Amino acid sequence: MKVVKFGGSSLSNADQFKKVINIIKADDQRKVVVTSAPGKRFKGDIKVTDLLISYANAVISKKSFEKVLQKIINRYESTADVFNLNPSVMEDIKNKLVNLPNHDYPNNQYLMAAFKAHGERLNAELFAECLEKSGIPARFVDPSEAGIILTDDPNGASVDDETYVNLSKISVSNQRLVFPGFFGFTKKGNIVTFARGGSDITGSILARGLSADLYENFTDVNAIYAANPNIVDHPKAIKKMTYREMRELSYAGFSVFNDEAIIPAIEGQVPINVKNTNQPELDGTMIVPEDSFKPTEPVTGIAGSNRFAALYLHRYLLNKEAGFTLKILQVLYKYGISYEHMPSGIDDLTIIFDKSQIPDATIPKLCADIKKAVHPDELQWIDDYAIIMVVGEGMRSTIGTIENIIRPLAEHKIGVHMINQGASRISIMIGTRESDANNAVKYIYTHFFKSAKPVLS
Ligand code: ASP
Repeated sequence: MKVVKFGGSSLSNADQFKKVINIIKADDQRKVVVTSAPGKRFKGDIKVTDLLISYANAVISKKSFEKVLQKIINRYESTADVFNLNPSVMEDIKNKLVNLPNHDYPNNQYLMAAFKAHGERLNAELFAECLEKSGIPARFVDPSEAGIILTDDPNGASVDDETYVNLSKISVSNQRLVFPGFFGFTKKGNIVTFARGGSDITGSILARGLSADLYENFTDVNAIYAANPNIVDHPKAIKKMTYREMRELSYAGFSVFNDEAIIPAIEGQVPINVKNTNQPELDGTMIVPEDSFKPTEPVTGIAGSNRFAALYLHRYLLNKEAGFTLKILQVLYKYGISYEHMPSGIDDLTIIFDKSQIPDATIPKLCADIKKAVHPDELQWIDDYAIIMVVGEGMRSTIGTIENIIRPLAEHKIGVHMINQGASRISIMIGTRESDANNAVKYIYTHFFKSAKPVLS
């Protein structure tokens, strides 16, 4: 049995619905379907999730919302019209949208979550009707009915293990089950969502919970590429990669597949196939357990991300002082900030953060508190920081990979601020200036994939 998830652009209008219905028709193992909210139909279009966020914000700030509400209704209505659905379907969708402001929410964050969730909820309801209309028996399954229980974090929830107990009770028959992605319910019964892009997570949870043989993730690209196609011209498509390669690459900027979404699939050891809704005949990219993968190249992919900042601390004899790091961590804990990496030397330490976690106003306070706690000789906040991640299972058995990464950078005069090999020995992380990040990806890519190739020993 396969769990099949379709992204927002795959379900953005009636034409896309038809493609998706054909994909489901083509394979009777595709029994469980997960939908995103309608996404962009063209460049510059607005995703329904973003329209719902505007709707929620207008309600919160007591501004008028009729225009945006109508835009949302139109997105569903245009598809319902093409499929000639019973008018009661659209009536129901309309009522649910209009009534969103009238429910009780514990606070505005829960209100926001509930509004956002309706993008996927209503698209799943609509899609189940369109499947039925096309002669494929199908049923909408609400996360409340399936028992998808999430933590009490309204717009950034995680799955509660009870979900898997609940899902194991669901039996999958010939009737397709259509689940909305992106949200679930807390134990108290409030709607909460994952972070943005979280429908991938729902698909992965269902693949694990329903013991699927395969999790197919349909999106709008032919494959996952070895480097960002906006940076490298026609990069190589990755045919097969491991779970942990995908984790490392999506962490550092590969956005095709949500980085958190891989975890339930790993736990259930369900392989993932990323495919293109617009060209479903292509193989796409398989993401598989480590023991079903034999690398043929040292490097699988190269990612780069600018979302980092670093705090540099210098103090003589730092390596001799017990508790130095502990004091810093206590300050971070006080602000509720986690760190990403902490490379250190004998007299200095760099702490790398995800910038999006730290509001600008907090930075001077954080630095002042750290100064007070550890009295460094030098403290510097470095905003201009990017991380390049070079990833490949093949690196474990290749000597000289670091040299092959650094050489093209040196040749093009790109300075390296930090270099760190992960303990798993399948990734090497490099810190550069933000302005060098894209070029660094390009030169490393060219070195490994275009020039005389470093051979795998
Ligand atoms: N619709 C949500 C978003 O735009 C979730 C998703 O598409 O995965 O973030």
